[in-house]
This record gives sequence, structure tokens and C-alpha cells, in this order.
Amino acid sequence: MGTYDPNNIFARILRGELPCRKLFEDDHVLAFHDIHPQAPVHVLVIPKGAYISLDDFGARASDIEIAALFRAVAAIARDLGLDAPGYRFMANTGADAHQEVPHFHVHLLGGRKLGPMLSRKAGE
Ligand code: AMP
Repeated sequence: MGTYDPNNIFARILRGELPCRKLFEDDHVLAFHDIHPQAPVHVLVIPKGAYISLDDFGARASDIEIAALFRAVAAIARDLGLDAPGYRFMANTGADAHQEVPHFHVHLLGGRKLGPMLSRKAGE
């Protein structure tokens, strides 16, 4: 899995060294708008702890941190009015999924019909 890079972009946002358009914050979670939105709503939700990926988060985070992240995503989606029309919640994990930032984050996407989950058929 490698070691956590404390100078990744999201670690710097958490330390206040880089700005973000913050939507939500509590003891365990920070949520902010993605800088290159892929949908009318594109929010990133990240744990404050130093976790590289979902694999790392799932293995090492406390139950409290894991619950806080899921509760935050659902509450943010509800606050943004996405619960009724629906939304997508996803986490790119590792190279095959094209994870670019090595601090665990989930994407919350919505505000339009998002179409099928992937553009290619299974197996391609
Ligand atoms: P991923 O490919 O899952 O690692 O997604 C990383 C996401 O972080 C991309 O959607 C980027 O647009 C987004 N991103 C990168 N830098 C920033 C930043 N400074 N503020 C907000 N979002 C960012």
C-alpha cells in the first residue's frame, strides 16, 4: 500500500495550506466542492485522519471515523436535496481506478441524470 504522503493536496487542504470551498466539517470529516466538477453537484468527502485509500481506511480507521464519513455523506446529500432525485457515491481506489490523490476521499455526484456507472461494458 505504501506510506502516506503528508504533502498530498488533501492533506494540505486539511492543514489550511490550500483553500477549498468547504461544505461541511466535523471532528472526523471535511467535505468540499471538487475543483473540476463532473456533475452539477460534485462534492469530495474526506476523513481528517491520514488514510491513503479505501483499502487503508477500511483496514485502519476506527468505527467512529467510518461511521462519521458515511453519516456525513448521507447528511450532505440530503441537505443538497439529492436524496429524492438520487446521487452517486464512489471511491476510486488505486491505479486501475485512477485514484489521483493519495488521501482517501469519496465522490458525491448528482444534480442531473448520471447515466450508467461505467461507459464501457464489463470485460472491456
Ligand atoms: P480521484 O481521481 O478519485 O483521486 O479524484 C481526485 C479529485 O480531486 C478529482 O476529481 C479532482 O478534480 C479533485 N481535486 C484535485 N485537487 C483539488 C483541489 N485542490 N480542490 C478540490 N478538488 C480537487
